[in-house]
Amino acid sequence: MSRSYRDRGVVLRTQRLGEADRIVTLLLEGRGLTRTAAKGARRPGSRIGARLEPFAVVDVELHRGRTFEVVRQVETVEANAALRADDRLWAAASVLAEVVLHVAVEGERDHGLQRLLRAGLAALATAPAEPDVFVDAFLLRAASAVGFPVRTGSCARCDAPGPHAHLSVVGGGTLCGDCAGEGTQRVGAGVVAAVRTLADDGAWQALPGLAREAGPDRVRAGSYARAYAEHHLDRRLRSYDAVERPGPGSPEVRE
Ligand SMILES: [Zn+2]
Repeated sequence: MSRSYRDRGVVLRTQRLGEADRIVTLLLEGRGLTRTAAKGARRPGSRIGARLEPFAVVDVELHRGRTFEVVRQVETVEANAALRADDRLWAAASVLAEVVLHVAVEGERDHGLQRLLRAGLAALATAPAEPDVFVDAFLLRAASAVGFPVRTGSCARCDAPGPHAHLSVVGGGTLCGDCAGEGTQRVGAGVVAAVRTLADDGAWQALPGLAREAGPDRVRAGSYARAYAEHHLDRRLRSYDAVERPGPGSPEVRE
């Protein structure tokens, strides 16, 4: 059996290795999270190095090595160059990569996560005016992809049909009056609706509208998304702090 194989995936992280090489961590369609060695990638003019940039979607030919898979060939599928040319987009895409590096399992394919990451990066690569709303959406969708979907239509604890006005991170979404504890925050219907839009997989097109219109509700839904992901994915997301956020909610709340 050949020790070489091809796969398609997303570059999540690159690190220096030795004098001229790089360790490149990819989320591959067939093999999940995979660490590869890209020999000579840091030499000037290296074609492999130029193509294995963070957030690029690539077809790779890999050779099974002892410690790392060794990159033989790389073809660009989606360069996603916009994400490396703009600090705000870089910061936003870095959160997506941090989340995936944390939840993806080495050697295990995960179609849902792969699809979500590609869609999220593609949405960011269109250079939206407010990339932070895409980050918040990704956090809730990634939590759902690994088994922690946020509930907004009914009570997350007892299933009582909603809408409900209590919103809980630990409880997994909205809670009815009976299930909500004393400390559970009450929020307006606009916040619940904003959380639902963020979490609704597939509706990336709805996000710029949410960013423009929902004001303070969206800001609140965004902090909820971060808290939700950090709690359920059990990780403090350091890269999130570098994402530019909208200021404190505008006082002109439309009736
Ligand atoms: Zn309940």
